[in-house]
Amino acid sequence: MIQSLLSRPVQKVPDRVRFDGRVLFLAEDPEIVRRQLDGEDIPFDPEAPPCSAAHPALRDNISTDEITPAYICYYFDETLGDFPYLGLKCGEEFPIVRGAVRNGNFVASVSGKRRGKGSSREQSPYAEMMAGIRLVIAENIERIYRENCQNLGLFTSTDFGLIDRVRRGEEIPLSEFTANEGGISRGIIEYGGLFNYNVARLQGKAEVPTVDTPPRPMTISEKIFARHWVVDAASGTVGVPAVKPGDQGFVITDIRFSHEYVTPMSAIFFEQLVGPDEPVNDPSSVFFFRDHLTFLDQVMRPEHREMGLLDVANQLEAKQRTFAAAKGIRLYGQLDKRLNLHGALTAAGSEAICHSKILEAHALPGQIIIGSDSHTPHAGAVGCVAFGVGTTAIFNSWITKDVRVEVPKSFRVVVHGEKPSNITAKDFMLEILRHPYIKSGEAIGQIIEYAGEAVSALSVDERATMTNMAAEVGAFTGIIAPDEKTVEYLMEQRGMSESEARELCAGLYSDEDAEYVKVIEIDASSLRPMIALPGDPGNGMYVDELPGEVAIDIAYAGSCTAGKKEDMDMYARVFSEALERGEKVADGVRCFIQCGSREVFEYCQERGYDRVFTDVGATFIEPSCGACINAGPGVSRTKDDVTISAINRNFPGRSGPGQLYLASPYTVAASAIAGRIVEWHAEGEARGSAPELAHV
Ligand code: SF4
Repeated sequence: MIQSLLSRPVQKVPDRVRFDGRVLFLAEDPEIVRRQLDGEDIPFDPEAPPCSAAHPALRDNISTDEITPAYICYYFDETLGDFPYLGLKCGEEFPIVRGAVRNGNFVASVSGKRRGKGSSREQSPYAEMMAGIRLVIAENIERIYRENCQNLGLFTSTDFGLIDRVRRGEEIPLSEFTANEGGISRGIIEYGGLFNYNVARLQGKAEVPTVDTPPRPMTISEKIFARHWVVDAASGTVGVPAVKPGDQGFVITDIRFSHEYVTPMSAIFFEQLVGPDEPVNDPSSVFFFRDHLTFLDQVMRPEHREMGLLDVANQLEAKQRTFAAAKGIRLYGQLDKRLNLHGALTAAGSEAICHSKILEAHALPGQIIIGSDSHTPHAGAVGCVAFGVGTTAIFNSWITKDVRVEVPKSFRVVVHGEKPSNITAKDFMLEILRHPYIKSGEAIGQIIEYAGEAVSALSVDERATMTNMAAEVGAFTGIIAPDEKTVEYLMEQRGMSESEARELCAGLYSDEDAEYVKVIEIDASSLRPMIALPGDPGNGMYVDELPGEVAIDIAYAGSCTAGKKEDMDMYARVFSEALERGEKVADGVRCFIQCGSREVFEYCQERGYDRVFTDVGATFIEPSCGACINAGPGVSRTKDDVTISAINRNFPGRSGPGQLYLASPYTVAASAIAGRIVEWHAEGEARGSAPELAHV
């Protein structure tokens, strides 16, 4: 406990709020956005027919990548207020420029469905707040983004009736923002943010709802929440008999981790609000990662370099490293340069991408893990509840070791049957992501639990592709109950004894009559290799349904989702077959293979995959997030570049300005050889039903 916080004055915000300023509509039409930036207040009647002059179409699916593109997140202080919406694509244009929002005296920002999807970066709401935005209104709002707003003290609403009232300068009762919120969210809003609320909680001033849910059939996730439920923070009492969806409270965490995009901002919050010399609570369960930007110097655009962004970005690394050293926290850092197969010095990679290392070395069945990244659910592959949180939640967890939750509803995806040999977990996910339940946004904030024979048959590596991409579903997290495959994984990967591994998995299953709001059933045997068309991971279709040939310029095989040992097995298999046929990566195609961790890199070296990759004409690079975050070899350079990639998301601008198709490791590797998007078929196996467009 940090004693100085116990005597610190803390107050609630006033019970009526007025928003002095203009309303910015993030419209589909770039001209409408520009007119507002030039000073015009456009008419907006939510009751008028959509897409009319009185009700212009608003942008849906605004990702945090669009609110603050990756390069903007090199800043970690109030300078961010210069940049909100710089990546916002309206039609084919990006109408918002540096300083435009801040200079426009806007106080509210309005958009359509799924506001704040994608990455959990808190730089997005922080940039909005620093530009003067105090209220975000949208048809629906993604969980992490909404929580990040609340944690910072930014108001959110789905009530379009507020727009006119804001414009009239009306005082709005605070209760309108708290009416549909549970006790903790209400408290956080009332105290103007999570830190103040936590100080009030530690002082016994803020009410924390008690959970008295009687024993009931529970899902695996609910059981894990119940085991970790904080009953009394002061005495350290943890655990309740049962929880149900909607219960609110705090859960004690087993692991907290963050990377260089988030740690520095959290560190600054900690130093400013708690004190530079105060200790972090239980530093042995905190991990930092230098994974996102190790290759940045190789790909930064000249204009960004001229803006001084490389120096700004390098400060992220330095701040994280010095804070880790000061607080005694394990940092998985940047690697030294080393010699490659050709005797040349490699660029410096990372020890590991955060999700890769947390799964490889730390996550255990039954744990609660929080990370500063939307793909934290990756670790759910071994049956833990792992979820992404923002900067403020991470920084608060360094004080309290707990994190707030509202137990989400769960839905189940059952993948039956036996999959064809060229189908992977990525194909399962691209199929799931195009399901209407997901595309409509109904799954937002829920837990996706995967089950069925086809999931049981997957390795833990492949399962992690599915739990990782719970982020693209918009889910709170993804989880797969531990089983024999998990026990084997813990024994092989962690060197545990069988009895230790079994003990960890004991009792971790969903009860037969546990409650699900939806069950989606998929027949694995009917699937064919999939791609997602550029723009959104939900744009899935079968490769053989492509209306014409799609030539590619880049094939990228890596990232946390697709840089695991089994992913490397898949790339190596396809490339070895190609070499046997005397084929190589097609002329004009740049192909990159990048591991999720140094451990996977060494696995490739042990098996000779590194030679296969270089012999086939691919570039085998040190681990890092790299191209996945538009910060390493493999990014596109122009809007005409076509990339096929095994990463998890293809939102506009995610990996450069080009057109990015998502696909499985097999499809990416096969397409690299063919020079166009094709399916892969194992040597000697019969092909699918529409082979004329889709074959190697
Ligand atoms: S590899 Fe991509 S998705 Fe994974 S943590 Fe890095 S940037 Fe995020």
